[in-house]
Amino acid sequence: MANQSKDPICGMNVDPNKAQYKTEYQGNQYVFCSQQCLTKFKQNPNQYSSGK
Ligand SMILES: [Zn+2]
Repeated sequence: MANQSKDPICGMNVDPNKAQYKTEYQGNQYVFCSQQCLTKFKQNPNQYSSGK
């Protein structure tokens, strides 16, 4: 319902329409505030996508 997604790395809210850094993992889309967070996620996606 909210038109915002959360950066799973740092917990920041990111507008998916403006997000420059996003990736898809196991059918879910994740958005990130920065390249740094995206890189972190890609290094260890399981740790961040387990629904916590
Ligand atoms: Zn971030």
